[in-house]
Amino acid sequence: MSHPVSYHAPGAWLGILGGGQLGRMFCQAAQALGYHVAVLDPGEVSPAGMVADWHIRAAYDDPTALDQLAKRCVAVSTEFENVPADSLRRLARSCVTAPSGDCVAIAQDRLDEKAFIQKAGVPVVPHRAVTQASDLDSCPEVLFPGILKTARLGYDGKGQVRVASRAAAYQAFEALKGVPCILEALQPLDYEISVMVARDQAGQCVTYPPSRNQHRDGILAVSLVDGSIPAAAADQARDFALRIARTLDYHGVLGVEFFVLRDGRVVANEMAPRPHNSGHYTQDACLVSQFEQQARIMAGLPLGDTDAPRPAAMMNLLGDLWFDARGVEREPRWQDVLAVPGTRLHLYAKSGARPGRKMGHVNVVADSAAELHRRIAQVSAVLGLPDA
Ligand code: ADP
Ligand code: MG
Repeated sequence: MSHPVSYHAPGAWLGILGGGQLGRMFCQAAQALGYHVAVLDPGEVSPAGMVADWHIRAAYDDPTALDQLAKRCVAVSTEFENVPADSLRRLARSCVTAPSGDCVAIAQDRLDEKAFIQKAGVPVVPHRAVTQASDLDSCPEVLFPGILKTARLGYDGKGQVRVASRAAAYQAFEALKGVPCILEALQPLDYEISVMVARDQAGQCVTYPPSRNQHRDGILAVSLVDGSIPAAAADQARDFALRIARTLDYHGVLGVEFFVLRDGRVVANEMAPRPHNSGHYTQDACLVSQFEQQARIMAGLPLGDTDAPRPAAMMNLLGDLWFDARGVEREPRWQDVLAVPGTRLHLYAKSGARPGRKMGHVNVVADSAAELHRRIAQVSAVLGLPDA
């Protein structure tokens, strides 16, 4: 599928739906290229709204606000997948939207997402739709033990319950209030990886080196690009991510999460139609970050270099770090973090730290994997984080 590319020189306006940290980092990258950015977000104050050139405070489905955005901007994107797909479809009538409402709609529903990934020829875990309790009657034994996940609106491990047996699944379905769900077989994971793929308006694609992701309490804690993913798995994941982006006729940056199973197979887990937390390492390890890549695609500029010449890592900073053991609020010791060589700090300027809230991240680079891990351990020690 080939599309005409509409190039717009710096000075033009790019728009983004959503005012969170991903929108903030997009703004900063687009502004560094000389573009103006408009953010549509209902909040009075937001991480992206405060750095945007223009903050439209309105609901994501407010037609007047969407039309204002479309009038000013040459291209619009979204920084979160639960934006109403129809808002993107409305914007697409008058400006480039990357990604399209149709792509975002697929990523919003785990059932549609899995069906689509399979259609692209990429393996997924065994699963079944559970839209009513009786659907569980016919689920094959291979799905137990499993994970029951709400089809929509889940993130950071929320909206999912591990179920050891069919009986437990009935209970879990009730606890999830009977909303449409997917039951997945619990897979023997060796480790988890993700790939950021960028596809431009003409259909050219690049991928970033896959990162190996470690979670704590269901939330991404550390992403490592330290050479620890065997080449076969890394190449397979990159190829799968490309197939998915091409089959979707996707425009923009897409994050695809994969499981690497104990038998070495790579299977797709889920995708995010936007820059992804596990791709933050690209800000400091690559010449062109995932955020700049998104801006380039929207503006019709050439895709940038995705190599990561040195080992790199991203460490998430959750609100927990703002509290001492007695629960008293304090500021983490950034001066000691940044005294560790090869570190860069990215804070999202959120007011009010809460446990589990993503407040920022630290990127770490080094000349060798061993040095990288020493630096990660030093940062962890300063912040009081468990070792990665
Ligand atoms: P979220 O949208 O919350 O990130 P995921 O589907 O990625 O939802 O699930 C969160 C985490 O739960 C995964 O990163 C993985 O560690 C674990 N997990 C999810 N599905 C499975 C599965 N089918 N088998 C084993 N572990 C799983
Ligand atoms: Mg996930």
